[in-house]
Amino acid sequence: MINVEDKIQELKERCAKANMRLTPQRIEVLKMIASVNNHPDAETVYAEVKKVMPSISLDTVYRTLTSLEDLGLVFKVDNELAKTRYDADLTPHCHFICIKCGAVHDIHIDNYIEAPKESYDYGKVLQTNLQVKGICNKCRG
Ligand SMILES: [Zn+2]
Ligand SMILES: [Zn+2]
Repeated sequence: MINVEDKIQELKERCAKANMRLTPQRIEVLKMIASVNNHPDAETVYAEVKKVMPSISLDTVYRTLTSLEDLGLVFKVDNELAKTRYDADLTPHCHFICIKCGAVHDIHIDNYIEAPKESYDYGKVLQTNLQVKGICNKCRG
């Protein structure tokens, strides 16, 4: 689980560095994503943040997510799901993605995944990424 206070502290530092304003919207949106582990999409973030900040619009949520992504505080979960999902956990981990309900679960890995040998024929390897797709226990019934 992410330490939300640390995350907000990081937001403060990065905003200052990037000369960006530390807006209440940025704080609330980041807080929301960092405090759950279900990798919410923009609409889910919007529904939750609206509870504490009723004046926020979905449009603002989208723009805030983009700025948090630019600041390197959240990233988009790599998936082919209909909706973009966001993750604030920057520690190395991969995802189990349910192809039926779209649930995204964290899988923590402690070793670097070695790229297949053939990859090096094409150039320098910067990153490898493991993604597990399946049907979650809930969907299997
Ligand atoms: Zn499922
Ligand atoms: Zn994750």
